[in-house]
Amino acid sequence: MSSLLRVGVLSLQGDVREHLYRLRDTGVEAVEVRHPADLTGTHGLVIPGGESTTMSILAERDGFFEPLQQYRRDGHPCFGSCAGLIMLADEVLDGRAGQRTVGGLDIAVRRNAFGRQVDSFESEIDVIGLSPQPFPAIFIRAPWVERVGSGVEVLAVWGPGRTPVAVRQGPLLATAFHPELTTDLRVHQMFVDTIAAYA
Ligand code: GLN
Repeated sequence: MSSLLRVGVLSLQGDVREHLYRLRDTGVEAVEVRHPADLTGTHGLVIPGGESTTMSILAERDGFFEPLQQYRRDGHPCFGSCAGLIMLADEVLDGRAGQRTVGGLDIAVRRNAFGRQVDSFESEIDVIGLSPQPFPAIFIRAPWVERVGSGVEVLAVWGPGRTPVAVRQGPLLATAFHPELTTDLRVHQMFVDTIAAYA
C-alpha cells in the first residue's frame, strides 16, 4: 500500500531534504511542495523544521495559507516537526506579532521554550506507539506545548515537568523534535501508517 502513497513536503524553508529522504526510506513517493498546486495528488503533507516566522512570511507571500487550511480541513494527514509543530498549532506564544499558522491542532505552543542552557540537545524519550522505546529525539531551539485541548493525545513528554513534545489529533501529528535528523524511521513510519489509514 505504502508504495502507492505520495507525500508532499512543504518546501518554502527548513530541512526539506531530510524529510524527503526519510519518507523515501519508508517506501513512499515523496515530493516537494513549492506551490499550492503541488498539493494536488498528495495523500499527506510534512511541514519541516526550520524557522516558523520565516516560513509563515513565505507561506503568506506565496498564497499558501488558504490552500493549506483547506487541505487540512479536507482531512489530509499532516505531520509537523519543530517549526512545523508551530505551523500546525492553533495558538503560538512568543511568536512574531500577528504570526499566522495553518492551525488544526488544538494546542498552544511556546516558541524557543527550552531557553539558552538547553538550546539544542539530544534526549532519549519514550513515544507512545513505538517499540522498542526510546526514540533519539533531537531538539533545536524547539518549542514546547503549553496547552493541550481535550481532543489532543500527548504521545511524548520531556523532563521533570513532563512537558508535551509530541502530539496527535486525528490525522495531525507533530513533534517538537526532529525525527528527520536521525536515521530512525519510526516516527515517519507512524505518519505514513496514518496516511495509509486515511487515504
Ligand atoms: N525556533 C524555531 C521557530 O520558532 C523552530 C526551530 C526548529 O524548527 N528547529 O520556528
